[in-house]
Amino acid sequence: MNVADSDIIFQILSDRGFVSAKNSSEADLLVVNTCSVRENAELRARSRIQEYARTSKNPSQKLWVIGCMAERLGDKLIDEIPGIDHVIGAKDMEDIRQRIDEILPDQTLCGVINTSSSVTDFVPVMRGCDNYCSYCIVPYVRGHEISIPVEEVEKQVKKKIDQGVKEITLLGQNVNSYRYENFDFPDLISKISEIEGLERLRFTTSHPRDCSEKLISTVAQLQNVCNHIHLPVQAGSDRVLSLMNRGYTGKDYRKLVDMIRKHIPDADITTDILVGFPSETQEEFKQTLSLVEDVAFTTAFMFAYSPREGTKAASMKECLSDEEKKARLTELITMQTEITRKAYGEMVGKEIEVLVSGRQEKHDKMWMGQDYGCKRVLLSCTNAQAGMILKAKVVRSSGMTLIAERI
Ligand code: SAH
Ligand code: SF4
Repeated sequence: MNVADSDIIFQILSDRGFVSAKNSSEADLLVVNTCSVRENAELRARSRIQEYARTSKNPSQKLWVIGCMAERLGDKLIDEIPGIDHVIGAKDMEDIRQRIDEILPDQTLCGVINTSSSVTDFVPVMRGCDNYCSYCIVPYVRGHEISIPVEEVEKQVKKKIDQGVKEITLLGQNVNSYRYENFDFPDLISKISEIEGLERLRFTTSHPRDCSEKLISTVAQLQNVCNHIHLPVQAGSDRVLSLMNRGYTGKDYRKLVDMIRKHIPDADITTDILVGFPSETQEEFKQTLSLVEDVAFTTAFMFAYSPREGTKAASMKECLSDEEKKARLTELITMQTEITRKAYGEMVGKEIEVLVSGRQEKHDKMWMGQDYGCKRVLLSCTNAQAGMILKAKVVRSSGMTLIAERI
């Protein structure tokens, strides 16, 4: 979502004649987009902002801080780091063009035509979130859930295709609750998938509570919708899931996985997992491990719980030290890495279709890309080009990347 927001800001600034600087010291304007989801993300953003505020050699250089941390802390950030010129919160993204007009009133539109340099891109279909998972800051910093009108989504996708993009990922915190007039999310992806020139369509994130059979059968039927379902489970214990306010049990989740595999047998199912939630016992953590083992996710994003001020979980008593949380995380990552390695290993000898995203630096015969699921591919061939979809045979796996040869 932050990448998509940065992209929108880049487009608006390009309309006013800005171009990318080679490095931060040459830039007239630095925009730092921030994330608040874990404390660590904020710490990293803060130290980067401080560094920019301190080391600027260009006296006319401006520094803007945008995104979730900007929303959470507002102008307090300027008090703390006086080098910041403007703070633009995540909720301002809704009318960001206007906000930038206010900050840069003298800039005239110069009509620079943007061509995208990437073959894959994101288009938000929703903003905000109403789920209030007890650990999560997102509803507070991104505001209420809003679905973007179908026509607007269509317009954005078409614009990107005209710029050379081949694959679009539709974005929302919980895409399954998309609703605009009588369109639900499966209706939206059916409509978008028909757009001419769109080679591949993806979406994220699906909330397990709202992931319907209609969605999965739509994905199964549509030729250009990729076989990848990102379905964050967060935990394996029903008590922890209920404390998290996730609205499903471990059994519900397993049933959902069975349903997905019934419709799309070779689907890549990926997830997010959070360990060390307040009061999570060792036994409950083992239930997460056993779910992970049974489901065999292709890959997973795994995190140690980080208390976020103002959330419900932040007022729950924590009984685990940082070291204990970290030890659980390490155990989980070790298990999942093995599962990922196996999933990639099983692809050796198979034929795949690779969307080529670019050349690998240092190897002029190696190209980077992605298969029809979620797997990264290194493709060896002589005359590829970014944007091509090529048939290839997997010859090897490095554990997290498929090595393939064009056929
Ligand atoms: N909307 C998505 C997730 C958005 S945040 C969903 O519902 O799945 C991305 C991931 O960050 C979450 O899935 C969760 O695993 C993790 N996360 C969120 N809050 C966190 C916290 N306080 N500490 C650690 N991880 C967190
Ligand atoms: Fe956060 Fe839950 Fe909303 Fe995802 S669904 S953004 S985890 S509150």
